[in-house]
Amino acid sequence: PRRHVRRCRARVTAGTTADLKAVVTTAIVADAAHSDTIAAVSTPPGRGGIGIVRVSGSRAREICSAILDGAVTWLPRHAHLIKVLDEERREIDTGLATWFPSPHSYTGEEVVELSLHGSPVVLRACLERLCAVGARLAQPGEFSLRAFINGRLDLPQAEAVRDLIEATTLYQARVAAQQVSGSLSRRLAPAKKDLIDLISLLEAGIDFAEDDISVATTVEITRRADAVRAGVTRLAESFGYGRLVHEGVTLAIVGRPNVGKSSLFNRILGQDRAIVTSTAGTTRDTISETAAVGGIPVKLVDTAGVRESSDPIESLGIERSRQALADADLTVVVLDISQPLTPEDHQLITFARESGQFLIVANKCDLPPRAAVLSGVVPVSALTGEGIDALRERIVAALAPDGGTAQEEGFITSLRHERLLRDCANDLEKASRAAEDAIPHEMVLLDFYAALRSLDAITGATSADDILNRIFATFCIGK
Ligand code: GDP
Repeated sequence: PRRHVRRCRARVTAGTTADLKAVVTTAIVADAAHSDTIAAVSTPPGRGGIGIVRVSGSRAREICSAILDGAVTWLPRHAHLIKVLDEERREIDTGLATWFPSPHSYTGEEVVELSLHGSPVVLRACLERLCAVGARLAQPGEFSLRAFINGRLDLPQAEAVRDLIEATTLYQARVAAQQVSGSLSRRLAPAKKDLIDLISLLEAGIDFAEDDISVATTVEITRRADAVRAGVTRLAESFGYGRLVHEGVTLAIVGRPNVGKSSLFNRILGQDRAIVTSTAGTTRDTISETAAVGGIPVKLVDTAGVRESSDPIESLGIERSRQALADADLTVVVLDISQPLTPEDHQLITFARESGQFLIVANKCDLPPRAAVLSGVVPVSALTGEGIDALRERIVAALAPDGGTAQEEGFITSLRHERLLRDCANDLEKASRAAEDAIPHEMVLLDFYAALRSLDAITGATSADDILNRIFATFCIGK
């Protein structure tokens, strides 16, 4: 059995860290698909002042030169005035070309960026010419994939580039920008180092096993494994907050007609309307918009946009409100404090309480109050703006009670990272149990190696080809 275990271990060892990265990378690079010169329009679809066509690969300059008028004396990182020609050598557009020599470019390969006028027709014609003279259209995310393969970015950094582009709030962008600069990999480095130290210790012990020298006691092993596990688990748990920041939340605004739901909706939206392009999920019966509340994209759903109905119950909006609050992460019940409370108000509060997290807002606090303010209720005036900042704070506190700690310690925003951190923690836990049960260290090591593989998979040191393809396929073309 011991020999068998050793063989297993050898196999596992061969599959870790740098070795596997080399294997994976070689496999990808060997694939001809990654060695040709690729081109894509890197600016968004539509018209604009400028549109950029990016070309990457060893033949980038040669291919670009073939579609340009006259010879270009390429200087690194200089703007060159160029004319793009069609196949009959008629001018398509005038623009600027910039050459980034390998390896000092985004992809690590030779890159040429052609800045042309931002007309879809011009850009497409240019792209077609490039393809006619030897370039290939880039796949989604292929520029970033190449940057990863060439060691310009690790996986969390590449994923963060995508998040940065897709950010809808400035806070999301700031979080992503930090990760582009490698914050997650730096954060994981100490855990990884401790784990490798522990593995080395056990490996050394095995080599001396025949001499009956024990280099690591069970207590020592479990103490060190548990310390790594605690750090990894804390980071995994920060996804609770990171997910809010990354994916945003839905907030339903409910209340009787005329209590001021729409006014409040617009107040919260204010200038902090998040920049969202997709309206998916907007139902016909409700209005929804996304605001940045404490940096978190909050989708506000206002039930006031609903058609009036002749059905008396329907007209109270109760059924619709009920639906909206069933779907929401947080419900804001709006009361009109300048009126006595009605049975409908109480009913909505009951519904809100049953359906999960809620806040009660006493609107129109600029008017003389005619209802007693219940405790815990946030007084606001959608008309004057009074109390809106306090309401925003209450919303953030309700949605992200541990946001402060997460912001201080750093947090993860990717489900992929969370899964891998949890896997790592589970394997560390298994290793500790095994060590306590006096299982031979060869076996304990298997769990430690598995834990290390999970950490490596986060940074991309050991990610299999299909995982890479899945990640980079979520990028847009030209990135
Ligand atoms: P909804 O039917 O709940 O969406 O209510 P609206 O937002 O349409 O507001 C109903 C009426 O109340 C409008 O005339 C608003 O101008 C008024 N209103 C809303 N909020 C306030 C407030 O804070 N103070 C005062 N005085 N009037 C308000």
